[in-house]
Amino acid sequence: MSRFFSTKHASLTPYVPGEQPRDRRYVKLNTNESPFPPSPKVLLYVDEAGVKLNLYSDPECLLLRTALAEMYGLKSENVMVNNGSDESLNFAVMAFCDSEHPACFPDITYGFYPVFAQLNGVPYREIPLTEDLRIDIRDYADLKGLIFLANPNAPTGIALPLEDIETILRQNPESVVVVDEAYVDFGADSAVGLIESYDNLLVVQTFSKSRSMAGARLGYAMGCPELIRDLQTIRYSTNPYNVNSMTLAAGLGALEDQTYYDANARIIGRNREYAANKLKELGFEMTDSMANFLFVRHPKIEGQTLYEELKARGVLVRHFNKERIKDYNRITIGTAGQMDKLLEAIQEILETRQI
Ligand SMILES: *Cc1c(COP(=O)(O)O)cnc(C)c1O
Repeated sequence: MSRFFSTKHASLTPYVPGEQPRDRRYVKLNTNESPFPPSPKVLLYVDEAGVKLNLYSDPECLLLRTALAEMYGLKSENVMVNNGSDESLNFAVMAFCDSEHPACFPDITYGFYPVFAQLNGVPYREIPLTEDLRIDIRDYADLKGLIFLANPNAPTGIALPLEDIETILRQNPESVVVVDEAYVDFGADSAVGLIESYDNLLVVQTFSKSRSMAGARLGYAMGCPELIRDLQTIRYSTNPYNVNSMTLAAGLGALEDQTYYDANARIIGRNREYAANKLKELGFEMTDSMANFLFVRHPKIEGQTLYEELKARGVLVRHFNKERIKDYNRITIGTAGQMDKLLEAIQEILETRQI
């Protein structure tokens, strides 16, 4: 730390992204990226946008917002786009939290929520999941803050039924409820249809996972026009050009090929079932994941050890050094070939240890 670093950030612990090692080729199952390339439409549109890079990107992002609105049965004033959904989440903390309105979220969930609260100097409250890593909706009533619900949750993959989301919205009329749907396209139900009925609902989605565009950095938030306007106030006060013109074009291209991404999501769903069954045969236990990853533990091998031994065999998974979940590893679902390489490596590790 330099002697110039603001004291207000002195104790800030930044988010730790999953490894992106370049030292060798890995079967990379640690950051929930898509194993499939973006649609050819995306590349075509990016190419066209490239020649206009002398101009600023459209600060209103109107074409993409309109296309998204159409897709979800909303109006463009219900939608804003951001530089990855992480930015939408940060903007939500900036817009809706203060010393009297803490950020509230489960103790086991996406690691960025507490970081955004710390960065913005607002309090946060972690609400423990049940013993089996589920949300008990009775714990989410009258919270008077900003509620983050990743649905499906990360890293458990467990989805909350829409009735439960609606109950939480009703139980917290004084709180904005952010439903973070980064993984919703892999089998859970979206809360988008509730936006018309609840002025305290913000649904956040991303192009990073099901739409194979993690490197483009594109996310979006959907809610009633007043909530979106508040977020736009924050956006125009930080960086009105937060989404560059190539990424805006890429997003439009992707939306024109939704059937391609739907097909890919179905393949991931099948590969998830396949890997889950094989892992169960090998003695693994796991949560009931509706996402593009599995969250698994084996009674006879520590989480950290399995992570290290897989890495030594060229397979990267994600281990979290957090007390309640340290026995687990989160494994991204890739192609059938990648799943077979993972399973082979695991089998070898178990055999070497005579498990
Ligand atoms: C991956 C992920 C995000 C981040 O998405 P970006 O759009 O790439 O910033 C947000 N929330 C959850 C729960 C995620 O897993």
